[in-house]
Amino acid sequence: MADNTKLYERLDSYITDSRDEFEDKLAEMVEIPTISMDPERKDDCRRGAMLVRQYLESIGAQAEVVETPGNPVVLGRIQAGATDPTLTIYNHIDVQPADPDEWHKPPFTFFKEGDRYEGRGSTDDKGPALSAMMAARYAVENQVPLNINFVWELEEEIGSPNFEHFIKNNADRLKSDSILVSDTIWISRDRPAIPYGLRGAMMFTMTLETGAKDVHSGLTGGPARNPIGELCKVISKCYDADTGRVKIKGFYDDVKKATKKEVKSFLDSGFTTKKFKAAHELRSLRFNDAERVLKAIMAEPTFEVHGITGGYQGPGVKTIVPYRAQAKISCRLVPDQNPKHVFKLVRDFVRKHSRDVVVEFESALGPYTGEFSGRYADAAAEAMKYAFGRQPAFTREGGSIGAVVTMKKYLKSPIVFLGLSLPEHGYHAKNENFDWGMASGGIKMFVRYFDAVSRLGR
Ligand SMILES: [Zn+2]
Repeated sequence: MADNTKLYERLDSYITDSRDEFEDKLAEMVEIPTISMDPERKDDCRRGAMLVRQYLESIGAQAEVVETPGNPVVLGRIQAGATDPTLTIYNHIDVQPADPDEWHKPPFTFFKEGDRYEGRGSTDDKGPALSAMMAARYAVENQVPLNINFVWELEEEIGSPNFEHFIKNNADRLKSDSILVSDTIWISRDRPAIPYGLRGAMMFTMTLETGAKDVHSGLTGGPARNPIGELCKVISKCYDADTGRVKIKGFYDDVKKATKKEVKSFLDSGFTTKKFKAAHELRSLRFNDAERVLKAIMAEPTFEVHGITGGYQGPGVKTIVPYRAQAKISCRLVPDQNPKHVFKLVRDFVRKHSRDVVVEFESALGPYTGEFSGRYADAAAEAMKYAFGRQPAFTREGGSIGAVVTMKKYLKSPIVFLGLSLPEHGYHAKNENFDWGMASGGIKMFVRYFDAVSRLGR
């Protein structure tokens, strides 16, 4: 691979020279609150799309803002030669909401402190998108024979509801020899990680109504049913909150167990329970053994209650018997679980245990496993080692990226994950940040990967 030395002679100075531009562009991106979850931010999402289209044009790409029934997708293309291989790079430009009261600085103001960049979206996924774009510019300027498509989504954080629409309508021009997704997290800064799998998710609600209005607990308490209590009882039948173990019959039937080799690779990622707890500010865990924790995140499904509403929430204690309660729940899923089948299991189980809790399906994403080995995985591992100095560990990600499952279905090309986020970057949390170490290493890694992929041919 080292026969292209000319490409690498100038790379370090290119990266150093690009730093100011990287920071300016990241600042501009972070300061547009592209919160896809918030309907009032629709215009900001569009503004974000316009901005990054300009960025893509500025590096010589043909770029357009492609409409969907929801937020648009930004599509860019850098054309090398008709016979050269094509790589599609996926990133997303939308972000999670941010509560200004939790942050120590305003979330949508860009702050730079030495090598650290703070702001919502900096690590997820604006910083990695920008790193890949700047690497692409270098590759093109240095005649790497590779066609590059950029797909920058603006609905990733809401489960990509319109991404299938976009991919279906643009599948012809997105025909690629391989796909690169840069939206994943390492386990530890000292050890690069390449995930090859993602958990899926199935979101649903449980609702129970036992009357038409809240009533007085002195007048009706005793005979009146309490929907909050009953809902909690049903939930506790579904899973053991102490261990996390799901008690619904058949729930684990389709779970493909991680092999010994996979578990060893998870453990090689530099994971420690202590760092994990610190990164997420968790006081204690259900269990502490590193292997058990890793398996639970990377290769096992969950049952999670995200919120329960009902009854009185104001100051003091108002003695009512509520008439309605609702729980918002999701199950993270792993290969080979099927979201629709899991929903049916949950619904049937709840029906058996409660006469009138209503279970309603909300949305779902399938789980995904890609290649653990093969020429693209090998090229990715080599590029990571070249840029960060250590052989990466192959891991699975506990989260879900809906777009990945869709791209696999329609574009049918191998997908490689090269992420640049770290646990301490505050992914989906307060004080989200990114840093020049990961950005500069990322540019280097992407250039190396583009070079390798261009040689793999079509
Ligand atoms: Zn992301």
